[in-house]
Amino acid sequence: MSLFAEEKILFKPVSKDVNPIPIIYAFPNDYSVGITSLGYQLVWANFCLRKDVDVRRLFTDIHENLPRFPELVGFSFSWELDYVNIFKLLEYLQIPITSKDRDENHPLVFGGGPVLTANPEPFADFFDIILLGDAENLVDSFVDSYQEVRRASRQEKLQQLATKPGIYVPSLYSVEYEDKTGKIKAIKPVNNSLPDTIEKQTYRGNILAASTVVTPKAAWENIYMVEVVRSCPEMCRFCLASYLTLPFRVASVENSLIPAIERGLTVTNRLGLLGASVTQHPEFESLIDYLSQPQFDDVRVSIASVRTNTVTEKLANFLTKRDTKSITIALESGSEKIRGIINKKLTNEEIIQAAINAQAGGLKAIKFYGMVGLPQEEYEDIDATIEILKAVKKAAPSLKITLGCSTFVPKSHTPFQWFGVSKDGNKRLQYLEKNLRKIGIDFRPESYNWSVIQALISRGDRRLSKLLQLTRHYGESLGSYKRAFKELKGEIPPLEYYVHENWQIGQVLPWQHLKTALREETLVKHLHQSLSAV
Ligand code: SF4
Repeated sequence: MSLFAEEKILFKPVSKDVNPIPIIYAFPNDYSVGITSLGYQLVWANFCLRKDVDVRRLFTDIHENLPRFPELVGFSFSWELDYVNIFKLLEYLQIPITSKDRDENHPLVFGGGPVLTANPEPFADFFDIILLGDAENLVDSFVDSYQEVRRASRQEKLQQLATKPGIYVPSLYSVEYEDKTGKIKAIKPVNNSLPDTIEKQTYRGNILAASTVVTPKAAWENIYMVEVVRSCPEMCRFCLASYLTLPFRVASVENSLIPAIERGLTVTNRLGLLGASVTQHPEFESLIDYLSQPQFDDVRVSIASVRTNTVTEKLANFLTKRDTKSITIALESGSEKIRGIINKKLTNEEIIQAAINAQAGGLKAIKFYGMVGLPQEEYEDIDATIEILKAVKKAAPSLKITLGCSTFVPKSHTPFQWFGVSKDGNKRLQYLEKNLRKIGIDFRPESYNWSVIQALISRGDRRLSKLLQLTRHYGESLGSYKRAFKELKGEIPPLEYYVHENWQIGQVLPWQHLKTALREETLVKHLHQSLSAV
C-alpha cells in the first residue's frame, strides 16, 4: 500500500480550474521526515486549496503522479545537508542543478524554509527563486504574482517576480569581491527596477499553523502538531530561532489553538505543541487546564521546548499524566557570566528549582541543552556547568540527568553573527565529558565537526556553490569538505575564513541585501550590550 494511502487529510481539497498551474512540491528527504515538517504540510495544503494550482508531492523515496511538464518545482528546505538530496531530485526531474543552465523548457525552481530564510547564499546558484519569510500570505502572493507573468519568457518572469515583496531572485543580484579569496565588496541588483534589498515577509495574524495531515508513517507516529507560539521574545544573542523569526507571536487560544486541537483529536490522540518557547504563551496555563479535562485523558502530549523558569510542579504533573517521562530545557551554560553575555535570563536557583519541580511532578528524566565555545568562555565557565549539574543531581536525585551539548555556531541575523567558531570546541566537549562521567551524568555531545560544517553553511556566500557540488561526491564528513577546499584553493576563501575568523563589524555580509525584523545597528547594539555584561 502506498504511504499516501495511510494519510488522514484534515482539509478538503478544492476542485480545479481549467489549466491549473502544475507544481511539484518537494521535500528533500524521505517521506517520514518530510511529512513531519509542519512548514511543508502548511505550504502543501495551501497549494491544494487553490483552484488554480495542481500540486503533486515529491520525496526522496516516494512521490505522487508527477506532471510531465511542471511549471514550478519547489523545495521546502529545513536541514542544511539535505542540499545533496535537492541535487538528486533535480537530476531525477531532469532539471539542471544550477539556475544559469536552465532555459525556457525548464520549470522555475523555487525554495523556502528555515535554511534559506537564514542564509540562502551558499545555495543561491541552485534556485531561480527564493521565498523569504512566513508561508502565510507569501505562498499565495507568489502564486498570484506568477499568474500575472505565466505566459512571459523565463527572464521576464524572474524580472517581474523579483519586484514583489519577499521574492528573491538570486541571479538578479550580483556580488562583487575584493578578490577571489577575499571579502565581499558589494551586493547590488543588476538593474534599476529591482529593489536594493529584499524584506523577509512576516505574518502577523493570531491563527498559527496546525497539521493538515496525520499519518502513522510520520517520524513521530500519528502526531498532530499545533504551533503555539512563533519566535521567542528572549533574544539570546546567538539564537536564530528568536532573531530570524521576530516579532514574537502567539496563537489565540480561542480562535486558533482550541479549534485546531479539537480538529486534530478527531483523528489521533497524539498531540505535539510546537514553538521555540511554548511555555512563554501568556495563556499557557489555561491551555494546560483545557487539556487536563477528562475527555483528553488518553491524549499523549509532547511539548517542544520549555523555558526553565516555567517548569512548575503543575506542568510536570500534567506531562506525567499525558505519558511524557522527561522534560528538555536549555540552560546553555552553568556560568552566570556566560548567561549574562548571551542574555539568557536565568539563575542557578531557577535551574535547580525546575529539576525539583520536575521530580515532584513525577517526571523521570530531565535533559539539559548546553553549548561550549560561546564568546568569552573560559574553562572555569565550563566548570560552572559541571557544578550546576552536580547541584541538580543533589536536589533531584531520582531524575535521570542528561546534558546534550553543542559548540557555538554563528548564525546570520543574530548579534553573534560576527564571531567565529572556537577552535578549541572539541577539547571543551571532551573536558565536559570526562568530568560529567565522573559524577554519573549522561553526556550527549553534538559532533564538533558537524558544528564546523554548520558554521560554513551558516556564514557561506555564493562562492560555496562550487564546493557544495564537489562535496556531494565525497560524502558528508568534515574531511570531504576539507578535500573540496583543497581542490578549490585560490578560487574561494579558505575554511578558516568562513568558520573560525571573527568578522569585522561593518564588513559586507553575504546576506547584507536580505532584511529581517531588526536592522544591523540593533544587532550591533545587542552585541555591545553582551560584551559589556562581562
Ligand atoms: S530562550 Fe531559547 S528560543 Fe528563546 S531566544 Fe533563548 S535560546 Fe532562543
